[in-house]
Amino acid sequence: MTYLCDNIGKNTEGHLTFAGLDTVELAKAFGTPLYLLDENKIRAHCKAFRSAFETLFPAGSLPLYAGKANAFTGLYKILKEEGMGIDVVSPGELYLANRAAFDLSHTFFHGNNKTDADIDYAMELGVGYFVADNLEEIEAIEEIAAKRNIKQKVLLRLTPGIDPHTYEAVNTGRVDSKFGSAIATGQADEITALTLQKEHIELCGFHCHVGSQVFYEDVFERALDVMLDFAAKVRDTLGFTASMLDLGGGFGVPYTEKDPKIDPIERLASIAERFHKTCKALFFPEPAFFMEPGRSIVADAGMTLYTVGSVKEIPGYKTYVSVDGGMADNPRYALYRSPYTCLVANKQNEAHEKLVTVAGRCCESGDLIQENVPLPASTKKGDLLAVCTTGAYNDSMASDYNKLLRPPIVLIKNKIPRLALRRGRFEDLVGREG
Ligand SMILES: *Cc1c(COP(=O)(O)O)cnc(C)c1O
Repeated sequence: MTYLCDNIGKNTEGHLTFAGLDTVELAKAFGTPLYLLDENKIRAHCKAFRSAFETLFPAGSLPLYAGKANAFTGLYKILKEEGMGIDVVSPGELYLANRAAFDLSHTFFHGNNKTDADIDYAMELGVGYFVADNLEEIEAIEEIAAKRNIKQKVLLRLTPGIDPHTYEAVNTGRVDSKFGSAIATGQADEITALTLQKEHIELCGFHCHVGSQVFYEDVFERALDVMLDFAAKVRDTLGFTASMLDLGGGFGVPYTEKDPKIDPIERLASIAERFHKTCKALFFPEPAFFMEPGRSIVADAGMTLYTVGSVKEIPGYKTYVSVDGGMADNPRYALYRSPYTCLVANKQNEAHEKLVTVAGRCCESGDLIQENVPLPASTKKGDLLAVCTTGAYNDSMASDYNKLLRPPIVLIKNKIPRLALRRGRFEDLVGREG
């Protein structure tokens, strides 16, 4: 049997292994539900992105990890050691990065509705760049920067109008997006002109993010062309030459054997080729180049372990396998019908051929982890269910719905597991009650 990712395997006892360790033993040691994160895998992805950016793009270019995929202090420390920049989307993410002593001058602050308080806090911490979304935000940045007597560096978020043919719910690059200013409508010109008039803003360049789970060839290349065309037009009409260009995140990651496998580093080589070619054709001096990989840094570094509590067969209909977690720790199937690979970790020598629905424990019939997934016919209470590729958008999207306690995160480095975030406790539920 082949597994989705090279950090997943099987040992002589027929147990699933992850990052070189027996998952049955990990579940015994740390309990379930349990998030595992393979630190070596995260570091390897960071190193690959870093070295690609260094060799392919002009000096000053940098990959920025998108913290919304997964964020906690220990992870920011790893990113810092790997020399990554980061993008943050909230004061909470900023707080965590700051707590990890991350160099905030390499931080890009996103969001389509930053409050004045958010803006003030980010300036207080010395955030490197604001990625401004709209006219009101430009006014607010100007006003708060003036009060603080600083000049704030800003990129403008634009919508290049590119449909990456991805899930509707995670598609943010089209013209009718809630994010950014559309190039097609002239609003991008308008916000650029306004920003250039601001005394306390230094406009550095432009940003876009076309969407997530991008698999199609040339989506980023087409976005790049639109963005560089716009930058060249602005140079000619407004006399401003962008020195930074940020193409966002979105490299697709396979969740099942059916998904295509793309190598982001190969894709970067092709993006770089287009970058050099288009800059040359437009006589545009090459700006420092940035991208914001989130999922492609952490997704396949993660796995979730659950204990099966019941197997309910409804004759003529379906079989439910219920586990001790669910939409509270992984809401992605409930939100987007996202595919996942499920495996019974203690039965890797048994064929996975019986189609079942894996259900969570929340009081919500939509609380499913996956439908029509093959598991062993012998699956029963006490078995250990592994869900693969849960390193991105699982813990970061988790809630304590139904007042379920949050699972811990165990980081595995060189086959040594370490508790990075402890399991939730009842006291956490009353932490805000004062
Ligand atoms: C979500 C998001 C990312 C990361 O996307 P991935 O698909 O996880 O790589 C990067 N930048 C912005 C602005 C985003 O909204």
